[in-house]
Amino acid sequence: MLFSVSSRYGAHRLRMARTVFGRPLHDVSAYEIEGLLVDTGCPSTAGALVGWAREHGVAQVVLTHHHEDHVGGASALRHQLGLPVLAPALALPRLARGASIPLYRRLVWGRPRAVAATALPEVLEHCGRRYRIHHTPGHAFDHVCLFDEERKWLLSGDLFVHERALFLRRIEDFDLHLESLRRMHALGPELLLCAHAGFVEDGAAALGRKIAFWAALGEEVRARGREGWSPREIRDRVLGREGLLTYVSFGDFSKLNLVRACLRSGTGEAVPASGDGVS
Ligand SMILES: [Zn+2]
Repeated sequence: MLFSVSSRYGAHRLRMARTVFGRPLHDVSAYEIEGLLVDTGCPSTAGALVGWAREHGVAQVVLTHHHEDHVGGASALRHQLGLPVLAPALALPRLARGASIPLYRRLVWGRPRAVAATALPEVLEHCGRRYRIHHTPGHAFDHVCLFDEERKWLLSGDLFVHERALFLRRIEDFDLHLESLRRMHALGPELLLCAHAGFVEDGAAALGRKIAFWAALGEEVRARGREGWSPREIRDRVLGREGLLTYVSFGDFSKLNLVRACLRSGTGEAVPASGDGVS
């Protein structure tokens, strides 16, 4: 198990992952600011998180979306420490019943336990700070970001992740995700607190680079599509071969999904439904 803590500007970044032969599998970060914990890592690190939260006086918990690498410690924090858990209203039914997830995700992160959460308000006040809640769908239908308008900090969950992300889940909505990125970029965040990239300074510039990269990629993919290339030809010749993640996830994360999402972009064609309801 990986559980490491770093801090900057008074915020703690908690990096968590299950490990295999000492190597972390796909780590994810939660953040703690003045007793507010945003996201809770994966189920397999819940015990360590509870211990840390007890020592550091965590007072309330917010979840950015329902994915298991963000909600994994929420049930333990609620039941062992009695902490209130707030989450996007759209996530509450799934959190209450505990999502069933594909085998590979259970192996990587563990199965999340059910948790009764309360809907986030439009503005969350904590320790004299105000965090505006922005609905930012695309990566997941219920995804939200928290924005501290005074300090211009954006707790961005899985909105950013990587400037040049090439792998997409089958059911992610490319158009919605780009639109969410543009809205958050327009806020001019100075610091991103990202669940995968960590503290990202000059957040607006980083978001701008991601938007430009994806927008240009979308244009190129659609141009090749109009020339009659198949999605697999576009993937092989524009994005290159799939990576380990694609095989481990049985194709749930892939470059081909990104190509297909780009080709659907602007057509109004629906994103495929998912067996486990994850969007
Ligand atoms: Zn996610």
